[in-house]
Amino acid sequence: MKLALIGFGQAGGKVVDQFLTYDDAIDGGFVESAVAVNTATTDLRGLESVPQKNRVLIGQARVNGHGVGADNELGGEVTEADIDEIQHAIDRVPTHEIDAFLVVAGMGGGTGSGGAPVLARHLRRIYTQPVYGLGVLPATDEGGIYTLNAARSFRTFVREVDNLLVFDNDAWRSAGESVGGGYDRINREIVERFGLLFAAGEVGHDDHVAESVVDSSEIINTLSGGGVSTVGYASETVETDSGGLLDSLTGSADSGLEDGAATNRLTSLVRKATLGRLTLPCDAGSADRGLVVATGQPTQLSRKGVERGRQWLEDETGSMEIRGGDYPRTSADEVGAVVLLSGVTDVPRIDQLQQVALEAQETTEQVQATAQDEFASLVDTGGELDALF
Ligand code: GDP
Repeated sequence: MKLALIGFGQAGGKVVDQFLTYDDAIDGGFVESAVAVNTATTDLRGLESVPQKNRVLIGQARVNGHGVGADNELGGEVTEADIDEIQHAIDRVPTHEIDAFLVVAGMGGGTGSGGAPVLARHLRRIYTQPVYGLGVLPATDEGGIYTLNAARSFRTFVREVDNLLVFDNDAWRSAGESVGGGYDRINREIVERFGLLFAAGEVGHDDHVAESVVDSSEIINTLSGGGVSTVGYASETVETDSGGLLDSLTGSADSGLEDGAATNRLTSLVRKATLGRLTLPCDAGSADRGLVVATGQPTQLSRKGVERGRQWLEDETGSMEIRGGDYPRTSADEVGAVVLLSGVTDVPRIDQLQQVALEAQETTEQVQATAQDEFASLVDTGGELDALF
């Protein structure tokens, strides 16, 4: 499906930058336009692929290009104030060509955390296309302010979008990795999962497996109904040259679609994708709707495998709304399964985030009250000393 991507804040901009690179690399064609919005000049300058003219600096009157310093209320305010600046950039997007908007932001900071929900609300008022959010949760060790920001932003963002796709940095960080290097790797994981999903709805229907190819309307229908979504992905490298791994697995590379080994492989990839690490870990059984996408070379995409995987997911979720299809990629050397779980409700990480945020909020209020008292007693001289004015 064709998307207008809007990266809000530093994380949002970097992920959108990476989406552009990935779309190019897989020849996906799912990015129609990409815009980056920020309050910090340096963050916008650091982007590589988002076109210069689509980089929008907001909040200059308040923060003069220096960012909002993890103050997400300020992030929201400057977005409200400068919404016309963002709209000018979106006016250049050929919106009649897009299937949806995707607003991407890190939820723990200030600009994206506060601004993304404001922009989503604005877009939904103006356009008929769905507006999806891609929200990145902070890692647990980032501290109370980031957790509090993320919990408040989550609550608002999920209300303002047609569906909130979530990625949890905490579930994807590796010990001993530098922050910068870590984000680069994590951002690649993000764009691979969501990119394959969105690119799946962009395949031409003249393909020989046309009837089983995933259509953008299937992605939209899976996301409709709102709530929170998560994505799983599992893949296996498959050699396609004769005498290679595929031949040894299936007996013949040409036997393709209905081959038993290919069927089993896809069914088990669907299970691995669902039960392995999701972008937002949760109980898959709590999903309302789902979509299974098989990716790889057309000869390796077993229709029976997708169907079995789809049925398995139906049993697992107890949902009657599980869709399935292919995303054939002639140049791929892997077979994979992408599983989109939509409307998930059993998400321990969100419960924990809200709990820690509440504690952080209470502590902040206490600290502020104590600080005020202490300051008052610091400057108080019992009325004996006069102030200058
Ligand atoms: P903003 O510029 O004020 O919107 O804030 P940032 O985007 O810098 O940070 C918000 C949160 O996003 C941080 O707490 C991190 O959890 C996360 N973050 C920052 N940069 C990246 C990135 O490149 N990738 C990912 N996955 N997360 C990031």
